[in-house]
Amino acid sequence: PSNRLAGKVAVVTAAGQGIGLATAIAFAAAGARVIATDINAAALASLAASSTIETALLDVTDAVAIDAFAGLIATQHGGCSVLFNCAGYVHTGTVLTTTAAQFDFSVNLNVKSMYLMIHALLPAMLQRGGGAIINMASVASSIKGAPNRFAYGTTKAAVIGLTKSVAADFVSQGIRCNAICPGTVDSPSWQDRVNAADDPLKARAEFVARQPMGRVGTAEEIAQLAVYLAADESSFTTGAVHVIDGGWSN
Ligand code: NAD
Repeated sequence: PSNRLAGKVAVVTAAGQGIGLATAIAFAAAGARVIATDINAAALASLAASSTIETALLDVTDAVAIDAFAGLIATQHGGCSVLFNCAGYVHTGTVLTTTAAQFDFSVNLNVKSMYLMIHALLPAMLQRGGGAIINMASVASSIKGAPNRFAYGTTKAAVIGLTKSVAADFVSQGIRCNAICPGTVDSPSWQDRVNAADDPLKARAEFVARQPMGRVGTAEEIAQLAVYLAADESSFTTGAVHVIDGGWSN
């Protein structure tokens, strides 16, 4: 149905490409008023040109910019009712090859960003009477250890803890907070990871083989789960880890 998100104001981070972009488009198709954010101005410009989606440049590691953005959302929209924290970065390495600076970068982009966004946007969401927060984790987290994903798996496990904490604290105030844990999904950065491998064909086959379904997921498949979690039809789920992985973790 095209009206599942009618009346909702949805903020999406990392909406310039990949899962964030597919979700911004799916949210809008479901009737939400969408504010798509990213650090990539060119990607936002092409989204704005091809849709009715509002865009805003936003670096999710910039606390000052996030506070200003939250002020704007409160003034212009009376706050948001859906927040999809999609931004995240895949660092490749083990505990031995990951530098402290690389570890800090992943913590800031993958986890602290979600703290900053929720801290800034939740007050107005509460004033609106409630809302849905969706946080992007991964199967590579507390669900599964994946090789060469030390900083990534550590931070995505933290996203699950953050999600459950927020859900517990605000369950009686109309706030639901859920995590999405995809398996391998076709996206621009996934293509980059494949192409950066010594043997891209072999790397692609190995990524595909992780999923018993024998394929990687599409951004649109993940977006449909995000639409469900944003919509009132998911009204009985909070603090939950929603796995969508072609059977990888099964
Ligand atoms: P992607 O990695 O191709 O795109 C990421 C987007 O994030 C880009 O548009 C980029 O400009 C933006 N971005 C980077 N730094 C930012 C910052 N500081 N502030 C705001 N935006 C920033 O997209 P993807 O592969 O679909 O990944 C999206 C999310 O899904 C990530 O959190 C990722 O960890 C997670 N995820 C992806 C997969 C997968 O296989 N692709 C699997 C599980 C989880």
